[in-house]
Order: sequence, then structure tokens, then C-alpha cells
Amino acid sequence: MAVSATPPHVAIAGAGLAGRLLAWRLLRAGVAVSLIDSRRREDRDHAAGVAAAMLAPYAELVVSDAALFALGEQSLALWPQWLAVLQTQTGRSVDFHQQGSLVVAHAPDQPGLAHYADLIRYRLPADKRDAVRSLDAPQIAALEPALAGRFARGLWLPLEGQLDNGQLLDALQRAIDQGMADVGGQWLQDTTVSGLSAHSVHTACGQTLQADAVIDCRGVAANRPGLRGVRGEVLTVHCPQVTLQRPVRLIHPRYMLYVVPRSEGRFVIGATELESQDSGLVTVRSMLELASALYSIHPAFGEARLLRLAASLRPATDDHQPVWEQLAGVWHLNGLYRHGYLVAPALVRQAEQSLLTRLAPAGLSTLDTMQ
Ligand SMILES: Cc1cc2nc3c(=O)[nH]c(=O)nc-3n(C[C@H](O)[C@H](O)[C@H](O)COP(=O)(O)OP(=O)(O)OC[C@H]3O[C@@H](n4cnc5c(N)ncnc54)[C@H](O)[C@@H]3O)c2cc1C
Repeated sequence: MAVSATPPHVAIAGAGLAGRLLAWRLLRAGVAVSLIDSRRREDRDHAAGVAAAMLAPYAELVVSDAALFALGEQSLALWPQWLAVLQTQTGRSVDFHQQGSLVVAHAPDQPGLAHYADLIRYRLPADKRDAVRSLDAPQIAALEPALAGRFARGLWLPLEGQLDNGQLLDALQRAIDQGMADVGGQWLQDTTVSGLSAHSVHTACGQTLQADAVIDCRGVAANRPGLRGVRGEVLTVHCPQVTLQRPVRLIHPRYMLYVVPRSEGRFVIGATELESQDSGLVTVRSMLELASALYSIHPAFGEARLLRLAASLRPATDDHQPVWEQLAGVWHLNGLYRHGYLVAPALVRQAEQSLLTRLAPAGLSTLDTMQ
């Protein structure tokens, strides 16, 4: 990769999902990056580390729209390419599966399932409706033998995916370290950003960093009007007695509940969705609701061991659309709400391209847009 003698320098406040992904992409394009985060690098209590990381453009249509669906489809195509590049660079693989997701409902919630299916089909372009398939009990059992005999009806969304976000955040950290060593920049952890302007970042301990461009990726802590946090809580359990091939969503009167299988018998169960700015510990009520839903999907989950209870805030705009825009000279990549993993590659690619166009001196590498 060709790098100019003095690469441009970008400062990114926030090293969650958006900050890490953008930092990695810019470093690969020959831009020096300083990444400043109030957390330690291994801290996984930000939204990026708490998320279930489902890539579910179809299922999410009940709370999204055509624009998010399009970003989700583009991102689903980009993830395997980007993860392959990340693996070549770092030697670290990230579990990525695209085996669809299953939606089921207990008998009293069957009308809810029918409504859910109707809404998704209604919001989909006509040529995509085949990718929403109604299932009967034998078809559910064929897809997920562990659920045989437990649900009379279901919905299969065969194109959806998921990834292991813990592995992704680790691999990005490694790749960013390499990129900073090669191109320039630094990762300031445990460093709270107190103010941003077009070319400088001020930290709570009195440091000032100068940069050619400044990006605010602080999630819910970003300084922008109309941004709010939406609290989400998840459980992680270990339950080798149950095998699921794909995320299973359960129609529930209060939440959009799901069980996401991970490697080594682990499952992530989520998520509450509460209009609250409280990112504190998981409450007993939420824990009981999530655990009861899990147990109702399969009784063997009663023996599951609790590995983690985690809560975080999803950064949401008023219209729930993600944003990439400049306000008072500072760039904002935000509003990823409950769709961060779903839309991040497409959005980050857009951000990367607009920054490279503005910053690129002669000799700065331009990446193949599909990589
Ligand atoms: C329970 C839950 C489940 C989810 N499940 C999914 C899912 O299945 N699929 C999906 O696509 N999305 C999911 N999401 C959404 C996804 O996690 C978010 O959209 C995404 O993480 C937002 O990324 P971000 O980088 O904007 O914010 P974050 O990931 O929260 O990162 C923000 C970073 O900014 C740092 N920061 C904050 N303030 C400061 C400061 N003053 N100075 C310096 N640094 C600061 C934080 O420490 C953090 O590292 C889920 C979210 C939650 C909470």
C-alpha cells in the first residue's frame, strides 16, 4: 500500500464499534489515526461489547425502513470480505455465519407472529418477499432439531447472519495497533474527551491533540442535539445441552427477544429496550424476563450457567436513522441504535470515502471500495 511521506492525521473520539472500524479502514488507506477512549481497550461494557451482533435486515424491518434495509444488505455483503482482510492482516478469525434466523411464538402469541410476518413482507420490496418463509412444526424441527415439537408455526429468514463481536473487537484492536505502528497515530485509552472542534480534541486531563479532521464516535455520549440512549440488557449463558444453528427470535408482548448461539455452547439472550439513560447493572426484572423467555424456548436452558449480565445504551437519533455528517466542523458517525453491526460496514465505507476525498494528498492510497 502506498503511503505519502507525511500522512494526513485523523483524530477519532470513541473506540467502540464505529470508532474502531473507521480507524482500521483509515489506517489501511494510509491515514494516521489517533483513537481516544475513556475506557480501557479490553473493557466490553460499551454498546459494541454488549450487543448480540445479529445481522438481521429482515427481522429488523418491523422497527426500521427501506433505507436501513439497503444499508443492511450492503453490509451483509461487505462483512465476509472485511473479515477476510482482517484475518489476513492479524491472523485472527472472527466467527461469521449466514444461516438465516428463525422466528417462533408460543400459542398465545401466534397472532403476534402473523402480524410480524405481514409487516416484514409489507415493508420489503416485492422481489425480496420470497426471503420470508412461513414454517410449520415439521419444517421448524428440520431446521432446528432441538426445537422439535415445541412450536406449531414459525418464520424463516434465510439470508440473515451474525458475527462474534468479542472476536471482532479484539481483531480490530490488533489490526489498529499494526496500522498505527506502520502509518502513525496512537490509541489513548482511559482518556475522556471533554471537547472537540474541527481540528482539535481536548481531553479531561488537559491534553490537546491537533488533527486534519476530527470524528465524534462517542456513541450515546456524543455532543449532538436529539441523540438519546435506549437501554438494552443481555444475558450470556453456557448451555452445552442445547444446540441451535442460528439466532432464534421469540415473539413476546414486551420485547423483541432472541437467543443467539455462539461457539463452545454459549448463547447470548437479549434484549430489553427501555427508554432510559441508565447504563447501570441489569435489573432483577429484566434478568427474570430474559431468563424466563429462554427457559420457555427449551427447558434444558434451565440448567444453563450464567456467564454474564450486561447493560448498555444504544445511541439513537429521533428518526432512528444513522448519521454521517459534519456539525460545526466536527464529523459525526452516530445513531447506530439497535443496528450498529447490521449497518456499520456500509456506513463506515461512506465515511471513509468522504474523508479520503477531502484529505487525500497525492500518493495517499485509495482502497478498492469493495474491500
Ligand atoms: C443490548 C444490545 C444489543 C444489541 N444488539 C445488536 C445486534 O444484534 N445487531 C446490531 O446490529 N446491533 C446491535 N446493537 C447495537 C450496537 O451495539 C450499537 O449500534 C453500536 O455498538 C454503536 O456503536 P458506537 O460506536 O456508536 O457506540 P459504542 O459502541 O457505545 O462506542 C462508543 C465509545 O465511545 C466511548 N466514549 C464515550 N464517551 C467518551 C468520552 N467522553 N471520551 C472518550 N470516549 C468516550 C465509549 O467508551 C465507547 O468505547 C445492540 C446494542 C445493545 C445495547
